[in-house]
Amino acid sequence: MHPVITHDVLNQAEPLVGANLFAGNRALQDALRFNRPGYDVQRFTALGAEAGSAAMQQHARLANFHPPQLKSHDRLGRRIDEVEFHPSYHALMAAAMRQGLHGTPWSLGPGAHVDRAAAFMLFTEAEPSMLCPISMSYAVTPALRANPAIFADWGPGLASTRYDERFLPFDQKRGLTMGMGMTEKQGGSDVRANTTRAEADGQDGWGARYRLTGHKWFLSAPMCDAFLVLAKTGEGTAAGLSCFFLPRWLPDGSLNAMRVQRLKHKLGNQANASSEVEFHGATAWLVGDEGRGVPQILAMGAITRLDCALGSAGLMRQALSIALHHTAQRQAFGKRLDAQPMMFNVLADLALESEAATALALRLARAVDATENGTDASGHEKLIGRVLTPIAKFWICKRGSYFAQEAMECLGGNGYVEEQGEGVMARIYREMPVNSIWEGAGNIMALDLLRALRTGAVVDALAHEMAPAKGAHPALDAALARVLHGLDGSTDEAQARRLARDTALVLQAALLRQHSTDAVFTAFCASRLDDRSDVFGALPAGCDLAAIVDRARLQ
Ligand SMILES: Cc1cc2nc3c(=O)[nH]c(=O)nc-3n(C[C@H](O)[C@H](O)[C@H](O)COP(=O)(O)OP(=O)(O)OC[C@H]3O[C@@H](n4cnc5c(N)ncnc54)[C@H](O)[C@@H]3O)c2cc1C
Repeated sequence: MHPVITHDVLNQAEPLVGANLFAGNRALQDALRFNRPGYDVQRFTALGAEAGSAAMQQHARLANFHPPQLKSHDRLGRRIDEVEFHPSYHALMAAAMRQGLHGTPWSLGPGAHVDRAAAFMLFTEAEPSMLCPISMSYAVTPALRANPAIFADWGPGLASTRYDERFLPFDQKRGLTMGMGMTEKQGGSDVRANTTRAEADGQDGWGARYRLTGHKWFLSAPMCDAFLVLAKTGEGTAAGLSCFFLPRWLPDGSLNAMRVQRLKHKLGNQANASSEVEFHGATAWLVGDEGRGVPQILAMGAITRLDCALGSAGLMRQALSIALHHTAQRQAFGKRLDAQPMMFNVLADLALESEAATALALRLARAVDATENGTDASGHEKLIGRVLTPIAKFWICKRGSYFAQEAMECLGGNGYVEEQGEGVMARIYREMPVNSIWEGAGNIMALDLLRALRTGAVVDALAHEMAPAKGAHPALDAALARVLHGLDGSTDEAQARRLARDTALVLQAALLRQHSTDAVFTAFCASRLDDRSDVFGALPAGCDLAAIVDRARLQ
């Protein structure tokens, strides 16, 4: 019997494995050099190798393909409210904490938040969904400091670079993580609709103690060691939202009354558990002033929004690298795909978008860094950070899904296939939208921009920020004049998205002018400010596509 041979496997592009994701990423290197002169090249080169390694890719595949499982009760019917993860999830968590992507930058001094931002972007290319608890653990510090007693006990564990997956009281663990609970069924954006109630329950070493009763409709990473949650204190018209610290285990060693009702069945973000929970008289401690819960927890939200921008920029870069790698191997109609003029235009356009996202996200990280580390004598960085946060979160995350769709199409049908988690592009596509939704969806960001405009001399700050690019391109000068007019406070809500988009674009152009190449800067201005296209791959004639694509290739 002769075997029946139907075909040979030919012309299939090999997956991108084992590339150094930092050494080949010139856009990130240049953005880092600009925002963090003297950064540690060796550290990033090592991280780039780790993030691109076959071992990390395998962990990412397994952690996503074997999503977490809720064990609400033990075999004997006792409530345990535990979530079980695949070992690869824990391996990824351990790697992220070893890199200090959670609480460590808060005590490291100037530059640490920029370093961490770049590292977070690189790690996103390895696996984004388990970065949810990492991000929340990073972001919680500014809010948690408002309760110094709790921060003194928990701060070291949140900054520890040792991951401890064991479900134990905080004082028995080597490293700690934290999450947040704001969203309820009847309102997420509008947290004023929250109904969870807090009843005073005395005072102890951690301050005013309360009992919480109610629910949270979304609460990600329920195996975190503690959460900041919003609940109402007071009665009737005097009721106000306050921020509380709610640990999974109580100091006496008993399990707190937080019931994990079920895990969400999500589009993407599979490795991360997102749950619905109920509080049955759960014990929690006040953080900040009573009735000031929203601004208190937003100190955390401002930082997680930075991570949404960083995360989307990281995913864009990953999708771009895969698209470049694939089209350099696959032949169609007698040529490599990337030698086809139209595909080349698509790749160049994606490269512009990816670099612009990287530039804007790292600029925001520098603002956070300077504000936090007291290197912002003029107050400029604080104001820029306040305005840039909603702009970067809005625009970079909005562009993410659109970007992922086009990058996926570069791989043709193979891009759409999951194949037990091997289809990384399909995973990126499913992951992308979440950064746009959580931590405040697009409209909420645009509304927040309008609020931010009332916090200081924003027009002057923006003009100062843009000064290095003044006169560099006529389309940029014209766009900036329009934007500055809109920032004077006259924009109404219906136009807020337009303002967020236009401000993002001029800022991105100005940053590209300062730390990218002429080819990238002029093509960005020509395609985003002069002649806006609603589809990737329509860069106008005259753009130096070869220079743009060459710069973007992983070496
Ligand atoms: C995977 C996942 C994990 C999550 N994890 C957490 C978590 O750990 N903790 C937590 O607290 N939350 C979490 N969330 C919830 C998330 O933050 C909310 O879903 C989000 O803030 C939107 O709130 P909502 O779902 O209630 O939508 P809504 O508030 O109903 O908003 C729906 C739409 O209306 C728009 N909108 C709302 N108000 C206005 C307005 N005034 N003008 C114009 N448009 C408006 C919004 O932009 C949005 O597009 C998670 C969500 C997801 C998907």
